[in-house]
Amino acid sequence: MQQADLIAPATQAAAAVPQAQPQLLRCPCCGSAPALRNSKAQFAEDTYWHWVECSACGLATRYMAGAAERCIPAVATAWNTRTPASKSAAKDTAQ
Ligand SMILES: [Zn+2]
Repeated sequence: MQQADLIAPATQAAAAVPQAQPQLLRCPCCGSAPALRNSKAQFAEDTYWHWVECSACGLATRYMAGAAERCIPAVATAWNTRTPASKSAAKDTAQ
């Protein structure tokens, strides 16, 4: 009985995270560590929204709904894609 109670939570945790977590760069605004987030979608069964969000300042990618193996790499790539600092500075001063 006690052994079964100990084994069950570990099995559930392994099933909840089927794929490797992608590497995420630190937040471009505040430098804090971001996190992968998900939330149950209301429009379909077994569908989740996925996004990356900075836990400190709230900067986030767009939300993407669908299979985790397709959405997580997409939002991770969006989070990790940066405009070079020199390019964004030139854009700001041009206006
Ligand atoms: Zn931040």
